[in-house]
Amino acid sequence: MKKEREASALILILSAPSGAGKTTLCQKLAERNPHLYFSVSYTTRLPRPEEKDGHDYFFISREEFLKKIKGNFFAEWAEVHGALYGTSGDSLNKAIKNSQDVVLNIDVQGALQIKKKYPEAVSVFIVSPVFGDLKERLKKRKTETGEDIEKRLRHAKKEIAQSGQYDYKITNRKLEEALGELEEKITFEKSKPNR
Ligand code: 5GP
Repeated sequence: MKKEREASALILILSAPSGAGKTTLCQKLAERNPHLYFSVSYTTRLPRPEEKDGHDYFFISREEFLKKIKGNFFAEWAEVHGALYGTSGDSLNKAIKNSQDVVLNIDVQGALQIKKKYPEAVSVFIVSPVFGDLKERLKKRKTETGEDIEKRLRHAKKEIAQSGQYDYKITNRKLEEALGELEEKITFEKSKPNR
């Protein structure tokens, strides 16, 4: 009997400006879709009080990060708001080999690098309905200083300007709706015959 071709892994890139509600969206997405593997990035930024090493990020020094760049450790990496962030190439390739659907929570620079290496990756940009709202969300979060907020807002503006390069754009007006929309895109992409 002919062996069925194994379904290939879905590489889902999720990008959103800070404060667009991506963290909550991802938490809900993970709860409702246990088959998704959320890649844990490496970063040189300091952990926030509630963050755990190895869970939210692997927190490493700039020196260690630079060594890893030299050793070709990353599938992509970028400098965002003054810190370095990167995705391990090995864990991404392992997920792909095991047909494991993987979610990469990365910025626009990283998204473009992944798309170049893995053209089959699906990219989704999450937008906050209004820019003013973004500032309010960042202020409420109270994890950044005023200067940091301004830096993040400037970066957000730049990212929004590049969002046309994504396969899909979802506006996060209501969490449930945005989540439903995202799940619809995942189901649709998974059902494509060439997958
Ligand atoms: P935060 O410091 O708020 O956790 O993340 C800041 C930004 O870095 C977000 O836009 C997030 O998507 C991005 N980011 C997180 N991990 C990675 C990564 O591995 N690579 C890239 N290019 N960006 C990342």
